Amino acid sequence: MSEHAICALCGEHERFTVYCQAHTYQVLKCNACEFIFIPQSYRKAVNYTDYKSEAVTEAVKAGNNWLKIQRHKLRIKQIKRYKPGGTLFDLGSGWGHFLKTAQTSGYTVSGVELSEEPYVYSVKYLNLPVQRADFFQLNFLNQFDVITLWDVLEHIDRPVPFVVKCNHALKPNGLLVIQVPQIDSFIARKKKCNWNMMGLDHVNYFSRKTLSNLLSANGFEVLEMRSSWEVKLFIMYTLLPLIKRFKVHSKQKPSIREVDQNISAAERQHFFNRITRFPKPVLWMLIQIHNLVYGLLSRLNIGEELVIIAQKRTSV
Ligand SMILES: [Zn+2]
Repeated sequence: MSEHAICALCGEHERFTVYCQAHTYQVLKCNACEFIFIPQSYRKAVNYTDYKSEAVTEAVKAGNNWLKIQRHKLRIKQIKRYKPGGTLFDLGSGWGHFLKTAQTSGYTVSGVELSEEPYVYSVKYLNLPVQRADFFQLNFLNQFDVITLWDVLEHIDRPVPFVVKCNHALKPNGLLVIQVPQIDSFIARKKKCNWNMMGLDHVNYFSRKTLSNLLSANGFEVLEMRSSWEVKLFIMYTLLPLIKRFKVHSKQKPSIREVDQNISAAERQHFFNRITRFPKPVLWMLIQIHNLVYGLLSRLNIGEELVIIAQKRTSV
């Protein structure tokens, strides 16, 4: 077992169980608080400032923004039930399509993004007020109605101070909206270390219990938790490897994982783009079907990701 492991949630440094054993690293479970994580000693230096290449940018530019915005409207709908307007800050705003959707839905938006290519794209092509900065270096106090973290918290080495900083940046009763890969989802429990979402750039693996405990212990009240299924990720990370493997005509077919490891981020985007080039009425119909399926799966708690909406408590 890895030496000097420390649980980032409760500070435990001795009592761990091996959750699963991957080829080059071990995933541990804290016996004290049940938090599942990859110990620091295994972490490669993931350089987020260089996370996406120019080839990926070209592919994103070639994609259909209308379609991406339709997907994000579901997220906005979920947030509007609690905060119909105000200031919204997207932390790790990526390519900016969510922020763009929030802006057109009436929120006053801003965001931060560390990676250069997505940052430049959001500012230059989507005209969004995004800064390229490390959230820990910025000083915000009681100024946002909503902070969103879409697939960000799993990458953060120090989730506790990070969540505390979000709390300070929010106005009283402000909302923190988080999406993370869900380690207690059906598929994650089945696949363990072979799960698509498992890898060295994801250090934290939250369950419903550990994420809600993290928030409750740091000034938030959890309002809503539900599983989420990302159709784009499904297309790029599940469907594409399946199709590529199907197309291999040899007796010794590679495993899905081997096929998957040889697919570049740009190739995934291009594959997604091909699907987005259907005529608009067809896309519109696909979106309606997607939204129905999404709603149903979410109600049944089926999905690889977890979305949690929490409110800043006004008193401790
Ligand atoms: Zn712990």
